[in-house]
Amino acid sequence: MARYLKFIVIPEQGGRLKPVRVNRAFLGLLFCSMFLGIGLLTFFAWNYYFHQIDYQELQRLRVESSDQRQELQRLVHDLERLQQDLGTLAMTDARIRQLANLDDSGNLIPVAMGGQPDAENVSLSEIQQQINALQIDIELRRQAQQNVRNLLNDQISISRSTPKGWPTRGWLSSYFGKRKSPFSGRTVMHEGLDIAANTGTPVVVAADGIVARVEYSPTYGNTVVVDHGYGYRTLYAHNSRNLVKVGQRVKRGERIAQVGNTGVSTGSHLHYEVHLNGVPINPRSFL
Ligand SMILES: [Zn+2]
Repeated sequence: MARYLKFIVIPEQGGRLKPVRVNRAFLGLLFCSMFLGIGLLTFFAWNYYFHQIDYQELQRLRVESSDQRQELQRLVHDLERLQQDLGTLAMTDARIRQLANLDDSGNLIPVAMGGQPDAENVSLSEIQQQINALQIDIELRRQAQQNVRNLLNDQISISRSTPKGWPTRGWLSSYFGKRKSPFSGRTVMHEGLDIAANTGTPVVVAADGIVARVEYSPTYGNTVVVDHGYGYRTLYAHNSRNLVKVGQRVKRGERIAQVGNTGVSTGSHLHYEVHLNGVPINPRSFL
């Protein structure tokens, strides 16, 4: 094969044809270099194109990640606020217990103050842990408040069921305790108070309860007995009239009878007894 190739150059404006002799190897090298150049150029252009796409994606992810971090920080701050609110609730709780004189220190539940996650370097699992702890706190607080409600309800119920105040308008004519019987002259136990009052004066019940007995007895005359629960019973005797029926629910201050002089009695008065667990106690401390 010839080492050279010959080209004929034809000038545009006519004239002599010019033969050009080119080395075949040089031509091959030139073509190879051209292809290599184009190849490299395409490679870099391609690379640059994909690098640009990657870069944009990276930028997008950076923005997204920053948004998420801010979102997490907001969550951490919300959690902090919630824990503070719970702390305040716990203090209010303690104050209510103190005010209500509730002796249930065994039921006091401290707020679990878990360490706050660092808002800058917080992870989702840490936030989840805090949320779980808060949920437990809230549930415990709810139970504690239910206990307070129950205890207060009990206290209200006990208070309403405890005899209080005068069962009729009058004056004390005989006290609780041993005294000489005005009839036999012997020393006997007087198990209640006598309140002198005009016949017909209203007799009101001293606490909420249920009428347990309405009867006439030779000694006590017309009598009403009311059961208040919690061991308390009250008795109202010598009435001129009883105004309630057995089983009737009565509220403190409600009229249940009228003062009279029935049974063994020396004059118009109310004989008033308070029993605790079946034992007569001095009604004076309940007036
Ligand atoms: Zn009496």
